[in-house]
Amino acid sequence: MSVNMKNTELDKKDYTEVTEYIKKVLSMIEKDQITREEAEWVTRETVNGFRDHVNPGFLNYRKTVTMDKQFAAVEWSDSGSCFKDVNGKEYIDCLGGFGIYNVGHRNPKVIKAVTDQLNRQALHSQDLLDPLRAMLAKILAEITPGNLKYSFFVNSGTESIEAALKLAKMHSDRTTFIATTRAFHGKSLGSLSATAKGVFRKPFLPMIPGFRHVPFGDIDMMRKTFESCALVGEDVNAVILEPIQGEGGVILPPDGYLKQVRELCDEFGALLIFDEVQTGMGRTGTMFAAEGYGVVPDILCLAKAFGGGVMPAGAVVATEEVFSSLFPNPFMHTTTFGGNPLACAAAIATIDVLIEEKLPQRAAEVGEYMLDKLQEVGKEFPEQVLEIRGKGLLIGVEFHTDEIGFEVSKGLFDNGVLVAGTLVHSKTFRIEPPLTISIEEVDQVVNTFKLVLQKLNQQ
Ligand SMILES: *Cc1c(COP(=O)(O)O)cnc(C)c1O
Repeated sequence: MSVNMKNTELDKKDYTEVTEYIKKVLSMIEKDQITREEAEWVTRETVNGFRDHVNPGFLNYRKTVTMDKQFAAVEWSDSGSCFKDVNGKEYIDCLGGFGIYNVGHRNPKVIKAVTDQLNRQALHSQDLLDPLRAMLAKILAEITPGNLKYSFFVNSGTESIEAALKLAKMHSDRTTFIATTRAFHGKSLGSLSATAKGVFRKPFLPMIPGFRHVPFGDIDMMRKTFESCALVGEDVNAVILEPIQGEGGVILPPDGYLKQVRELCDEFGALLIFDEVQTGMGRTGTMFAAEGYGVVPDILCLAKAFGGGVMPAGAVVATEEVFSSLFPNPFMHTTTFGGNPLACAAAIATIDVLIEEKLPQRAAEVGEYMLDKLQEVGKEFPEQVLEIRGKGLLIGVEFHTDEIGFEVSKGLFDNGVLVAGTLVHSKTFRIEPPLTISIEEVDQVVNTFKLVLQKLNQQ
């Protein structure tokens, strides 16, 4: 009876139109090449879909970033260091999804590992032991600094921070966390508590209790905060920071700062959490930025490039001393998809590529070359460019005003170079291309940068 009733209900709904639409979308995905007409259809459907069903705010945002109708630039394919839009226009990707594409777009070795795994088994049973999780964890223990040994796998950077904070709370009953101003750690309520940007936090206050923010780079302030917390009986559980602040505008730590933070943590019995979601996987010239600064954290957070730009994947790696708080009950923190076989296959292949193609070293060398060249151009335009700084292939270009930064990133976009820059925050834009970017491509980016500044100067 009830089965019949359901069927009648179902029959009432007419799926003819949506089915037609679905078939058309699937046929587009299938195609190697699309015609001009199809490209127009894709563009129209994308813009309308964003306006009516995603969020019209994105269209307004893109309109401010690009000239004329280019706000409707719709991405369609990618490979190597480049993105192509649906009309075939190519962009050198110096935004790199904010640091996703360390091994390049659709690296063949990563694609192969993921496809091989996909052809055998896509996701895990959630009950039997899944082999790749164990193997990736062993590989991470091998390549991470110091005695980092156990891994918990997640799907995103935010989730890696959530897991790190919960791990720190499991490890001790201390409730204070020290984060830094201009920090970015994600936007879920836990990670947002550590994130520093007021505009993202304000509507969601109060945050998780116990978070304090001190200025990044100010070791005296950090020490005073440790001391005050101890005096009032609210001892510090952990310090959380990005070795180099990415979202904050590529802020490098002052000399010796990270070592001093490590010493403070040791002195007061607190943990050190490094958020290497953006700086990890070779980006700054060493496999992890921690190594570049000779500091070993107790907990290391990874994501973004961890899945090789093919799968969403992240990890929290911790010492046995810290991680063992989860041994008695491994179900204290779980995720259905974290560490799935496809993500693990992608991460393992990504690490293989990074090591075999010496990409961390390449990031150091090409990064130095690119930084030099950009700085040379910057010196020619002191009226516009305030400072260009960076480490490896994480480079920040700071302008005197938001408006100049906005005009330059707009000019670069129009000339086929994608950088991170918006009207709300464009005083500094980030350049973080694939670590595989060729010298010719670097030169092209630098020349375009110069051209755009020259044009701006003539106005
Ligand atoms: C991007 C980023 C995050 C958040 O990662 P999502 O994958 O977007 O959740 C956290 N920390 C840092 C340093 C990041 O750059």
